[in-house]
Amino acid sequence: TPRIFSGIKPTGHLTLGNYLGAVRQWVETDQHRADALFCVVDLHALTVDHDPARVRRLSRQAATLLLAAGLRPELCTLFVQSHVDEHTRLAYLMECTATDGEMRRMIQYKEKAARERATGGSVRLSLLTYPVLMAADILAYRADEVPVGDDQAQHVELTRDLAERFNQRYGHTFTIPRAVLPAAAARVMDLQDPTAKMGKSHAETSGIVYLLDEPDSVRRKIMRAVTDSGSKVAHDRDEQPGVTNLLEILGACTSRKPVELAEQYSSYGALKKDTAEAVLEVLRPVRERHAELCADPGYVDGVLRAGAQRARGLARPTVDAAYRAIGLLPPA
Ligand code: ATP
Ligand code: MG
Repeated sequence: TPRIFSGIKPTGHLTLGNYLGAVRQWVETDQHRADALFCVVDLHALTVDHDPARVRRLSRQAATLLLAAGLRPELCTLFVQSHVDEHTRLAYLMECTATDGEMRRMIQYKEKAARERATGGSVRLSLLTYPVLMAADILAYRADEVPVGDDQAQHVELTRDLAERFNQRYGHTFTIPRAVLPAAAARVMDLQDPTAKMGKSHAETSGIVYLLDEPDSVRRKIMRAVTDSGSKVAHDRDEQPGVTNLLEILGACTSRKPVELAEQYSSYGALKKDTAEAVLEVLRPVRERHAELCADPGYVDGVLRAGAQRARGLARPTVDAAYRAIGLLPPA
């Protein structure tokens, strides 16, 4: 069986984009067909301005939501990144493998750094080195596959380059992983700005559907989604990004083809209404189960404790091997 690793950052409340682009695949296929590890990557949440209490709260909430969405501890390993020291131990070796130029070329770094600067903030060094830690997250487990949304494909590509470089220079140590993108909704766009990805850390929230939004709020956000000038319903990412985003969301929620759905609608209103109801249908069981799990925090803690223990056992030998390979003296 292949080994799978994927993660989610506690930088905000989980969104419909996170669910359709990543979490749903973890639940419906990955945990059944592979040795799958899913990680709340809390160290990555420290790369931007953050409130400590909020990160702690969001970490617990993300883990709870992943269980609510259907991850089953008897099928997969769910844990928190900072509970397993191997990630940061290996990240340093990856810093010694990657180059400064490679890091600065990362699209997400450029975008997030620009956003920080635009709001008067300063850019943390860890924002630049973030992909190196992400590479360590993946390589420490010798993962074969990394199921991610489209926006993370570049980081997985970098991870492959670093793994190959390390193996070539220091001897075979890492498995070369590959990104696996979802068949549908690999990139859910912001409802108010359909040329930008829906992202949980964005400050402007009116175009973002959160998994825990009240049904009325979900309806309102979708009914107010920006659509395009003109009135025909067409699947056309360049000319009709708003409508296309709704078609993609509706398609992903109903297992239908967006292009075929386009032919069935003649008005934006009807498309929005059906999209809202389809989204609510998908979110309802997740919300219900989340409420149940919140009543049992001990259960979530237990899952995370067991998950971290298993993860540690898997990562230790690989990271130790990397330390030896790169030239560090083993402790006597
Ligand atoms: P942030 O704004 O802090 O980067 P995010 O919403 O992008 O938050 P991440 O934790 O970076 O969430 O990513 C978690 C997973 O969700 C990744 O696999 C990522 O590719 C996927 N993902 C994130 N946003 C979307 C989206 N809009 N559409 C599809 N997949 C997405
Ligand atoms: Mg992201």
